[in-house]
Amino acid sequence: MQFPNQLFIDGRSCGASDNKTLPIINPATEEVLVEVAAASERDVEAAVSGAQRTFEGSWRDYTPGRRAEVMFQIARVLREHAEELSQLESVAIGKPISDARDEVAMGARTFEYYAGAISKFYGQTIPVARGGFDFTLRQPMGVVAAIVPWNFPFPIATWKVAPALAAGNCVVLKPARQSPLSALRLGELAARAGLPDGCLQVLAGSGEEMGDALVKHPLIRKISFTGSTAVGSHIMQVASRDIKRVSLELGGKSPNIIFADADLEKAASTSPMSVFANTGQDCCARSRVFVERSVYEKFVELFVQATRKVVIGDPAKAETQIGPLVSAQQREVVETFLPTAKTPHLKVLCGGDRPARKGCYLNPAVVVGCETSDRIWREEVFGPVACVRAFDREEEMLAEVNASPYGLSGSLWTKDLNRALRVSRRVESGVLSVNCHNSVHLEAPFGGFKQSGLGRDLGMAAMEGYTELKNIYIAE
Ligand code: NDP
Repeated sequence: MQFPNQLFIDGRSCGASDNKTLPIINPATEEVLVEVAAASERDVEAAVSGAQRTFEGSWRDYTPGRRAEVMFQIARVLREHAEELSQLESVAIGKPISDARDEVAMGARTFEYYAGAISKFYGQTIPVARGGFDFTLRQPMGVVAAIVPWNFPFPIATWKVAPALAAGNCVVLKPARQSPLSALRLGELAARAGLPDGCLQVLAGSGEEMGDALVKHPLIRKISFTGSTAVGSHIMQVASRDIKRVSLELGGKSPNIIFADADLEKAASTSPMSVFANTGQDCCARSRVFVERSVYEKFVELFVQATRKVVIGDPAKAETQIGPLVSAQQREVVETFLPTAKTPHLKVLCGGDRPARKGCYLNPAVVVGCETSDRIWREEVFGPVACVRAFDREEEMLAEVNASPYGLSGSLWTKDLNRALRVSRRVESGVLSVNCHNSVHLEAPFGGFKQSGLGRDLGMAAMEGYTELKNIYIAE
């Protein structure tokens, strides 16, 4: 397999100005795949100024039809290279190949969605008291920084790059240090599809060094970030100095609420993958399971049975549902959450141990006996760990659900429509699924309440977020 190993600036691949590199390690084998150029502050300067030149010199003035044509071409080229992109994604972070294929297909659809959106995205005419003619324009911002994480590298990059380009901006994309391969290839393929040089710059490298320089760069007008709440908060602080726009998609500790009247078999058989998919490294993971007491024992039995059936193994095999964690370090972080002799009230019903195989694997764990104050119950684990608790009253359960500082996602299982509506309104989260676990639809807004974020990815809400709203008044 060929690995992209250079930065992508102004339509061409190039090394880092100070020749620094970062190793990319396959977490399934713990072997180094490739050394990738790591951008410095000088590369940030080159990428941002090049993007600004393209923004002013051409892209912002493309007609909507021409811009849409380029975006449709990008989707087509991504489809032609779907298998290659899926393989890159799978080896870099240990993602099961079948998931990687679905996510790459979604990335291509994201370009198509926003290509189609370009001709359906417009302002308003407003009947102002003065008479005359008043109307609004949605104008591009300029150069946008898209900073993305390692858990869903390709789709999240497209969720930011596609609406930003569609709205007429240029983008500097910074992938996470563990997962720059598919992003670098996205830059090359988009250029091959006809995207003008400088429209999409891709800089691999360290967040603390060049990521910070990118956020601080005076020509960056917006930072669209997905990652941890700590880094999101830092970016918001830095951005506040120049009143830069930010959108932040951050951590979560999402509930999975099972009422006694739910289809228990369906809820229990689908719930393991609502938390263990992507090896639990998912901001939407339903890691806190609330079960109405009368069905608690039964649900736990079914949930553990279903968890034991999940196929853990080689990410390259089509039947694998769970691969390794992204790194040995991430596995160690996850293990610090697991019960020890100091937390005798916590009980592990299955998993939590390392399987006897090479790679950063961890068997998915189901934990009961959690108290509200337990770290495993309150904090985002970002690994294959689910906690299950019983509840007696709806009000009590909702108070506990909403006590979390996070509010990203969640599921709710009941056959009572009134209860589904009542509880859906009360759960403090940006997205919620009833009788299923689907949080992400590219046509619908995705993002969080409270410390889970600010602004929205996907849908038309994301495209609005990459524009400034201008009002123009023409006197009669
Ligand atoms: P981070 O928030 O550290 O990283 C996300 C992205 O931000 C990466 O591209 C990273 O670059 C970049 N970054 C880091 N520091 C800065 C900075 N000062 N300025 C600009 N960019 C920066 O997440 P981690 O990968 O370290 O994961 C840590 C935890 O974050 C996870 O365990 C999980 O709890 C949470 N997380 C949540 C995600 C979500 O989807 N909501 C996604 C990923 C993580 P680099 O990789 O080079 O450091």
